[in-house]
This record gives sequence, C-alpha cells and structure tokens, in this order.
Amino acid sequence: MSLQEIQTRIENACLAAGRARDACTLIAVSKVQPNERVQAVLEAGHRVFGENRVQEAQGKWPDFKARFEGVELHLIGPLQTNKARAAVELFDVIHTVDRSKLARTLARLADEMGTCPDIFVQVNTGDESQKAGVSVDDADALVAECRDLGLPLKGLMCIPPVGEAAALHFALLAKIAARNDLKGLSMGMSGDFEDAIAQGATHVRVGSAIFGARDYG
Ligand SMILES: *Cc1c(COP(=O)(O)O)cnc(C)c1O
Repeated sequence: MSLQEIQTRIENACLAAGRARDACTLIAVSKVQPNERVQAVLEAGHRVFGENRVQEAQGKWPDFKARFEGVELHLIGPLQTNKARAAVELFDVIHTVDRSKLARTLARLADEMGTCPDIFVQVNTGDESQKAGVSVDDADALVAECRDLGLPLKGLMCIPPVGEAAALHFALLAKIAARNDLKGLSMGMSGDFEDAIAQGATHVRVGSAIFGARDYG
C-alpha cells in the first residue's frame, strides 16, 4: 500500500470519529527496512519516522537527517538507561518511558544537555510479564513522577497483546490518559490503526503497511 493511501485512510478514520482530519500523526516505522525504501518515503515528502532500536537508528538517521530537512524521529522500542544519552541526542520523541529509573536518567540528561525529547509513558495494558511498559496499576504514579521531574510528557503509548481485541486496550489507554489529563495517545499499527483512531489515537505507528514486510533474514 502506498504512503498516500495510508494517509487517506487515517484522514477518513479521523473524520469518521468526528475528529479533525489532521488529528492523528502518521509515524512511518522504518525499522529493519532497506535504506532505499526509507529514502523513497522521504522523497515522497514524509518526515515523521519511528525506530525501535537506538543503535540501528544511529546507523542510518544522521545521514538521512543531513539530506532531508525537517525529519522528526520517534523511538518506539525499549530504552536501556545506558543508551539514554544517545537517544536524547538522536530522537525528537521517546514513546517508551516505563520506569522511574529511566525517567530520572532522562531528567538528569535534560538538565545537563539543555534539551529533552517529548516523552510518552508506555503502559503494559495487557499486564503481560514479558512485555515492556509500566503496569496499569502503577501508570498514574509514573505519570506524576515524570511531571515532578519536569519532563515534557505528552501522552501514553501501548502495544496490545497479540491475539486480543486491540480496541479494548486502546480504550483502556485512553481512559488512563483522560484521568491524567494527557492528550497524546500513541497506539495503533498496520493491522489496527483505524480502530485506534476511533478510540482517540493522536499518533499511529505504521510499518509494514507502508514499507512492505520486514525481512529479518
Ligand atoms: C514494529 C512496530 C510497529 C509497526 O508495526 P507494523 O505492524 O509493521 O505496522 C509499531 N509499533 C511498535 C512499537 C513496533 O515495534
């Protein structure tokens, strides 16, 4: 599917939900994709991209950023504290703050570097033991701590459990955001971004529907 088709589907889903046509930002998830596919999407004019590994992003984005103006880069994968400095240097938005230690590290780096990416708190809405994200029960406390630390907190992010109705998780994330007075909702991927928009997503993270299947070979 083309970038333009995805954009049109996003706009239509916004309008169908009674929201503004441009209420939702498309993050093109370029992880693992060959550089020529990423470049084609840049040449088509798109500027908002997502990567889930700091090291992989360091390998390609400094060069793309030098060649294409206005790139906005989102980290959507887990962040270890020892990579936090590199992440602050490279990314405009971090979607995966899920623990106090990481929040405190980012606040310290922000102080030292005089800049900080926008922040989303990742919530493990399915309370899956193997998955990243703060538990539903601890989400409000982590949100409060991020605010106390002065981090530029914009919203919440989730990755619903495989094989479950994603819409229930989107609704839960929206509920937690509303009670914390947060506007940003990073939710929805290639298979379910229209459902996410119906539930209020402000950022959808779409990879394979734009770029084609990822080849991990
Ligand atoms: C890879 C990834 C996506 C994109 O997945 P697709 O199914 O290819 O759209 C979205 N969010 C996160 C956190 C990812 O790691």
